[in-house]
Amino acid sequence: MKRLLLATRNKGKVREIHALLADLGVKVLSLSDYPDIPDIPEDGTTFAENAVFKAQEVARLTGEITLADDSGLEVDALNGEPGVHSARFAGEPKNDEANNTKLIALLEDVPPVYRTARFRCVIALVTPDGDVHTAEGACEGLIILKPRGDNGFGYDPLFFVPEYDQTFAELPLDIKNQISHRGRALAKVKDLVRQVLT
Ligand code: IMP
Repeated sequence: MKRLLLATRNKGKVREIHALLADLGVKVLSLSDYPDIPDIPEDGTTFAENAVFKAQEVARLTGEITLADDSGLEVDALNGEPGVHSARFAGEPKNDEANNTKLIALLEDVPPVYRTARFRCVIALVTPDGDVHTAEGACEGLIILKPRGDNGFGYDPLFFVPEYDQTFAELPLDIKNQISHRGRALAKVKDLVRQVLT
């Protein structure tokens, strides 16, 4: 069976990408299967820059066909922050709960209609010939100040999708995957993943 390596240790991302690629019948590995590989620096200024760097570094270190996801939340009232700083918004070490607490505090005085935000994701795929392909996806929503739901990870309990009247943490995984930034980005590279792996 052919293998695809996900350049991440984020269990939430792995669960979602795993489900999105399940029908391809390929073996999906992640950096949890490669404990010796150090964390790849994410100091680029764009999601694309970080995704391409992670995918190329991990492909170089392992020789595997590698897919990386760089993603984050852009809040309009915060001029697009946390953006590429989403994972470490509240500082080191990265901590979802501290990030959410900081986000709630910053938006406390912002009326609900102005709490517009979007998740953005860039997927980078390094194919066996060493080429790198990228695709982007986004999903619009509103930030709420009281967390709702237990699914997902990261900012999901604060990210409300008006069309579904639920947060990302309340939506079942299959629905989140249909509408999310990650699901949309991955849909654009899935044919290529299929071509190089099957
Ligand atoms: P990355 O590893 O630099 O791509 O970090 C992505 C960060 O963005 C995560 O740690 C989360 O804080 C946030 N994020 C990205 N995608 C999602 C999502 O689907 N739900 C919730 N938070 C997300």
